[in-house]
Amino acid sequence: MTLPPDPEGRPAEPSDAPVAAVAAVAAVAAVGTAVGSAAAQVLRRVFGYESFRSGQREIIEHVVDGGDALVLMPTGGGKSLCYQIPALVRPGTGIVVSPLIALMQDQVDALRALGARAGFLNSTQDLDERRAVEAAFLAGELDLLYLAPERLRVEATLRLLDRGSIALFAIDEAHCVAQWGHDFRPDYLMLSMLHERWPSVPRVALTATATPETHREITTRLGLADAYHHVADFDRPNIQYRIVPKKEPKAQLLHLLRTEHPGDAGIVYCLSRASVEKIAEFLAGQGIPALPYHAGLDSRVRAEHQARFLREDGIVMVATIAFGMGIDKPDVRFVAHLDLPKSVEGYYQETGRAGRDGLRSTAWLAYGLQDVVQQRRLIDASPCDAAHRRRLGTHLDAMLALCETVECRRVGLLAYFGQRGTAACGNCDTCLEPPQAWDGTVAAQKLLSTVLRLDRERHQRFGAGHIIDILLGRSTPKVTQHHHDTLTVFGVGEDLRELEWRGVVRQLLAQGLLAVQGEHGTLALTEASADVLRATRTVALRREPERVARSSARSDGDVAGQGAGQGGGRSRRAAPVELPAQAAPVFEKLRAWRGVTAKEQSVPAYVIFHDATLREIATRMPTTLTELATISGVGENKLAKYGQQLLDVLADAAEAPEPD
Ligand code: ADP
Ligand code: ZN
Repeated sequence: MTLPPDPEGRPAEPSDAPVAAVAAVAAVAAVGTAVGSAAAQVLRRVFGYESFRSGQREIIEHVVDGGDALVLMPTGGGKSLCYQIPALVRPGTGIVVSPLIALMQDQVDALRALGARAGFLNSTQDLDERRAVEAAFLAGELDLLYLAPERLRVEATLRLLDRGSIALFAIDEAHCVAQWGHDFRPDYLMLSMLHERWPSVPRVALTATATPETHREITTRLGLADAYHHVADFDRPNIQYRIVPKKEPKAQLLHLLRTEHPGDAGIVYCLSRASVEKIAEFLAGQGIPALPYHAGLDSRVRAEHQARFLREDGIVMVATIAFGMGIDKPDVRFVAHLDLPKSVEGYYQETGRAGRDGLRSTAWLAYGLQDVVQQRRLIDASPCDAAHRRRLGTHLDAMLALCETVECRRVGLLAYFGQRGTAACGNCDTCLEPPQAWDGTVAAQKLLSTVLRLDRERHQRFGAGHIIDILLGRSTPKVTQHHHDTLTVFGVGEDLRELEWRGVVRQLLAQGLLAVQGEHGTLALTEASADVLRATRTVALRREPERVARSSARSDGDVAGQGAGQGGGRSRRAAPVELPAQAAPVFEKLRAWRGVTAKEQSVPAYVIFHDATLREIATRMPTTLTELATISGVGENKLAKYGQQLLDVLADAAEAPEPD
């Protein structure tokens, strides 16, 4: 196909050889047109997007010019374009180093659907497949080549790269080089040799991990001190953060899915493999298409479940944190945690998998007393050294502080990543239903003195449940057996309900005013408890909100208002508006068409078109290819391939409106 040099984006002829679109634009760059405009052309013609997102232009221009870059951007921020466009504009092949072997096929399919020439080399291929990709690379027929990092340990791979022409190295998931991080991969340490071996080839390292420590470690290990550093705004305005008290987790989860996310794809995180199995079975029994995923499952089953999650609409993946890194499914509408994450960083990464497409999404966490007890116990029992245990404790404390805050969750979250001075967001539970702070000093004193009295009975250890029974004056068999109904504190806590007492215990644990000991979760005093008992320290507590569930309608329209323009010059992306009522049936028809098309080509649905693109089509109802071409996400290749089919679907939908 020869691409007409048409700045209006007029549709090109359908073709089976879409590659030239890219080559033609690259040629424009080669004859000396400004870098920016070549990149902008690729953005529009290949990807079908009108404008760069915040940060992209600067990064892309820098790399196109041959410079190194380190990109810290949240999930969904648009990192891929930061190396894909330079790879398309610069002569030679962009080499993408990625640990996500299982996702390479999908990444390559997505690029091919755009008309780019892409391939991968990893251990899943047989010799013939590898040879074919190598030959294509040597012949200069690849724009992008994905490699697993362990490939670079093999001298033959390095020699192969020597013989071809390299546009750039992209180091994806660059935080894997950080030794103390949670995703450390030893093979990443070798990547420092890329610069030594190919000093003139630009490198771009990318990650969604935001902490300053990780940033520093990537910089030193990959020798990127002189690179262009881009640290993005880590806010995800389209994600609504909610942390609710855990009461009946299964029922709460079901309520969330039924009332706010029927038919939506999402991830439910659980701590243990057993609870993953249990919850997946429970949801499936309720008619929700849920699949389990954890490291204990056979690798074939895991791969199959992942593929179904990516390919089918509306699958709920119930998983341990073994699932998720690099999953670039754009339309994950919710991430639900049924257990407390171990750190704010983990919470941010996991919730960040929701709403890559910028549409409204929910991050929901149910958290209770048992979580605190369990996590503290896990840390105590972990076999690592004291310093590491302390670090784990610090991480947990920060997570607990986020759970117990009476301030905006988003403000707390961003502050953790060093982004200070943000205003309350209006799109988290504490903003939507502000919790009240109350003076819990007296309640804390009652509880702590009960713990103190029981502590004197050295031979016996008691957990939170028993202590609350005493405070509430309940003569349970255990209470009478130990004569705890004769204690002066028996029944002194009748002013609070059991749920509230559990909240008090949880918050005292979170504030370090109470500790958990031993495997039975015995409560014990800390050094700081003494100040409360002596009344030299007051205790502020968060009151449990009465209602837990909320319909998503409550916050409609809030998100967009939080978007672009606010925040003192910080460029937040606006979340898109809701689908108008009359567009909904059209959107469903488009989705059905996409499902069939994706199945025929055995690629994930989003490789055909993203939800955001289908929504815009359903809302604007274009009637010509030229109109269709102006929609975000409709590039030339996709227009040529699917344009007419889309118009047919729209014509059908217009003729046969839904009965209701
Ligand atoms: P990341 O890798 O940072 O998580 P992606 O590169 O997958 O994010 O981009 C997230 C989504 O945003 C994708 O659907 C991508 O196509 C889209 N996107 C990226 N850049 C732009 C842009 N400039 N305009 C419109 N959509 C974009
Ligand atoms: Zn908020």
